[in-house]
Formats: sequence, structure tokens, C-alpha cells
Amino acid sequence: MGIPFNQMARIGGYILKNEVMRVKRYPLVLMLEPLFRCNLACAGCGKIDYPAPILNQRLSVEECLGAAEECPAPVVVIAGGEPLLHRELPEIVEALLARGKFVTVCTNALLMEKKLSQYKPHKNFNWSVHLDGDKPMHDKSVCQTGVYDKAVAAIKAGKAAGFRVNINCTLFNDADPENVADFLDTLRPLGVDGITISPGYAYERAPDQQHFLNRTTTKTLFREIFKRGRGGRNWDFFQSALFLDFLAGNQTYHCTPWGNPTRTVFGWQKPCYLLGEGYAKTFKELMDSTDWDSYGTGNYEKCADCMVHSGFEATAVKDAVKHPLKLLALSLKGPRTEGPMSPDIPLQNQRPAEYVFSRHVQHKLEEIRAGKAGTEVATDAAE
Ligand code: SF4
Repeated sequence: MGIPFNQMARIGGYILKNEVMRVKRYPLVLMLEPLFRCNLACAGCGKIDYPAPILNQRLSVEECLGAAEECPAPVVVIAGGEPLLHRELPEIVEALLARGKFVTVCTNALLMEKKLSQYKPHKNFNWSVHLDGDKPMHDKSVCQTGVYDKAVAAIKAGKAAGFRVNINCTLFNDADPENVADFLDTLRPLGVDGITISPGYAYERAPDQQHFLNRTTTKTLFREIFKRGRGGRNWDFFQSALFLDFLAGNQTYHCTPWGNPTRTVFGWQKPCYLLGEGYAKTFKELMDSTDWDSYGTGNYEKCADCMVHSGFEATAVKDAVKHPLKLLALSLKGPRTEGPMSPDIPLQNQRPAEYVFSRHVQHKLEEIRAGKAGTEVATDAAE
């Protein structure tokens, strides 16, 4: 496992405390998206399709720290857009670490080597470099030649400078299990500390709608990958064993959308990191006013094929804390890759998708025009 012991222990203790106090819903990971602007335009990305005035917005340092004060999650993952375009990111990271948070910065790594000296290694700080496979796979995924080489150079530079460096890998329906397994083998020699792997979410605004995985193909793909991981290949996943078992079709899980609450320039996003169906002004309002039962697989059409870690990792982690023996057995044997899969959640009663993107964009543009919205961007967009 690529998860440091101090992080596992702190998160386990936090979950136990909330369970003992019978807190019905509590967050584990604050997803902070301080801007949507990116220096890539990946085919499977549904996060950056906004008009320029919105791409030019950013969360200020105070707004980022305010979000972490409001939301008690022990972990903060900073994503976007490309967070390294935010000039004040070093200050935000340092302040979050000083508040005792575990901090991960997700990056496509194009600016990482250049900006590395602005950050200091810390036991609670991780880089998470986007890497969707080997050179042909990754460059195809990000729609730009040469990005894989830059990402690998950044990983090496990060390790040489003493940082913890993970990678995050998103898979689509063109992933070849043999190829993915060979790619995972290349990571340990690079010094990568942990791997986060997940199927892509079928974003309605992503330019490429042809390559998203459905639930059956996701489970089959991950079984084929994990099958190849046996026999000492020892990949260091930065994920819970039960989430990997879920990906392999051995757990029937409902998502925990409040497990990874998401703060963007729009506000607190309802209901989860993947869907922007509405926005709340405060974290409390998000938790109190979201109709949670109307989302998730079986409840909502847009959730039908979702098996993404931001929705289901919290379910798996809570399951692990409640059933340590199940986790222990799984940790010894690894995910089962043969035999029947766990039953799927029926979809016949799910409500149809609502398409609300344009309404939210319109509203935000009106706020910006009226001078009521956030901070204008100070990014390194030119880079
Ligand atoms: S299944 Fe859950 S995590 Fe996935 S999109 Fe739906 S609400 Fe979000």
C-alpha cells in the first residue's frame, strides 16, 4: 500500500470518532478547485468547458483556507483546472499543512519542475501527477505529444528534491490490461510512492464521449489488470484495498458523495466532485440542503456508470474501518479476479438526467458582469 501509516491512522481515528458519535454524514476529503483554467485540453475532461470570464476566476487564499475551516475533512486534494497556474498556490499549501491537513496537489506536471522550488517537502504533502499510461497512452489521453516525457521528468525532479510523488491514472474503454500492467511496473523504478487509479467519469461536457467505461466493462478491465498484478509485481496503490475490490466487481457499494465535498469558484458543488447540479454558499448549507437520496447509482441517470474513487473511496474506507477482518483478508489475498461478481444496483427506478450546466454558467456570468463574483485570475496562464 502506498498510503503512509500516519495518514491511515489519522483518517481511521477520524472515521471511528464520527461513527461513535453517530454522525450520519461527514466528509473525508475536501476537493478544492481554486480555478478551472488549464494548460491542456484533454479529450475526457469535463471540468474546463467554461467561457473565459469563468476560467479567469480563482479562489483567493482566504477562500481556500475558509473552505478548509468550514469542512472538517482531514485531507485536502487541490485539483482544477491546473492548480499550478494559481500563483498563490504555495501559500495555500503551506497554510493548509500548518493547519494539520494532509495535502495533495494534482497536476499535469507541465509546470511542476519550474515551480518545484516554491514548495517544501513535508510528510503530509503529496504531489499527484496525472499519468494515464505509457507514452503513447498518456499523450493520446491528454491530446498533446511530449506531455508524458515532461510528467516523468517532473516525477524524477520531485523525488530528487525529497517530495512524496504519487500518480493518478484514469482509464477509458481503450485501455489494454497488459499494457496498463506493464505501465504500472514502470512506476516503482521512477520512485513513485503511490498510484491512484480509477475509471473516467462520463462527463456530459467532455469532448470525447466515445471512450467512457460502463460498469460491466470497468469491472472486467480491472479484473484483467489485477490478475496480471499477481506474482510479485507489487504495485503501490494510494487507495484502500476495498475500493480496488469494488473496481474488480466484488463489492456492491453505494457512493458517498458527501465524502469528497467540492469547493469551486461557483461555491460548494452539489452533490459531488463529478456532478455540478447546484451550488451552496457554505459547507453547512451543502450538507443540510442537498437532497442526497436523489443521487447515486440507481437514483439518477447521470450516476448509472459511475465507479470513480471520489464517489466510492469514502464508502470503501468506512467499510474497512467497520470491518477490519474483511480488510485484513483482502489485504493478504488481493482482489478476487475470477468467479461471479457482486450484484449490481438496479437502474429501473433512476430519475432521468437534468441538464443544468448552461443555467449555472449564465448565472455566474451575470454575477461576474455585476461585479459580485470572486476574484479575477492571477495565473501563469501564459506559460
Ligand atoms: S454516483 Fe455518486 S459520486 Fe458518482 S456522479 Fe453520482 S453522486 Fe457523484
